[in-house]
Amino acid sequence: MAAFSSDISVQPMISNKASVVLESITANAEDLIERACRTCYLSFHRYDPPKSTEELIKKIIRKKHHSVLEHAHATFRIKGGSRVFTHELVRHRLISPSQESQRYVCYADKPNRKKTKEFEFVIPPTFAGENYDFTGAYDKQVEQCYQLYEKMLDAGVPPEDARYILPNGTTSEIVITSNFREWRHFFWMRCNPRAHWEIRKIAIDILKILKNEAPIVFWDFIIDDENMTATGEVET
Ligand SMILES: Cc1cc2nc3c(=O)[nH]c(=O)nc-3n(C[C@H](O)[C@H](O)[C@H](O)COP(=O)(O)OP(=O)(O)OC[C@H]3O[C@@H](n4cnc5c(N)ncnc54)[C@H](O)[C@@H]3O)c2cc1C
Repeated sequence: MAAFSSDISVQPMISNKASVVLESITANAEDLIERACRTCYLSFHRYDPPKSTEELIKKIIRKKHHSVLEHAHATFRIKGGSRVFTHELVRHRLISPSQESQRYVCYADKPNRKKTKEFEFVIPPTFAGENYDFTGAYDKQVEQCYQLYEKMLDAGVPPEDARYILPNGTTSEIVITSNFREWRHFFWMRCNPRAHWEIRKIAIDILKILKNEAPIVFWDFIIDDENMTATGEVET
């Protein structure tokens, strides 16, 4: 981890350190989905878990009867992702976000405000290649941005305006909630090799948790850890 020589406290985050924590998930989610789905046909005489649960959920996913997946939800807290990542994330309109505010969160102790958290930013791994290394230059530029940010706050510029100078790489904590149908769609879009590495990495971390919690609903997504991708059988 790089350290700055100046007297301000800037904490660089190394890339791919983002943490994903499951905050909440629908209890007995797959059972709920089965019981909700069986209501359509009043076929409770076929309710015989766990066998019937697996058979029914796989069948409805393959037949694209996806609305029944909306009965189950999961909420995650993500720390250490950049604003680049969160901007891509919040494009998913059916995922409900609550995100750290750069207006109310303070990155330094000030006379009338207490520091809420350290200023952190993500360093993309591609900044250091075989024939180049931009990490030092990047650190320096970020430090300058942060110093100007502090100077503006000291002078009385409101934080919601001073933040214009903070880089896209600044980390941002976020809590997101969505139903299982949308999670499947999110994985379809964001675990794809074409998706940007940061959202792809975090999407795969979420997918791993959901595959563990609801193995039937997410059964068809196969994770390739080496290439940090996952592909599903059924598009959602
Ligand atoms: C590799 C990649 C590159 C991208 N590049 C760009 C880019 O260059 N520029 C850019 O702007 N975006 C880009 N995006 C974002 C992309 O265009 C979508 O905004 C984002 O992936 C959310 O997808 P979505 O709308 O399907 O998902 P969600 O918002 O999660 O919606 C889920 C589904 O619900 C339905 N739905 C949601 N809202 C509506 C609605 N209002 N009307 C009708 N149906 C609705 C649709 O079926 C939709 O697929 C990129 C995404 C990827 C994965």
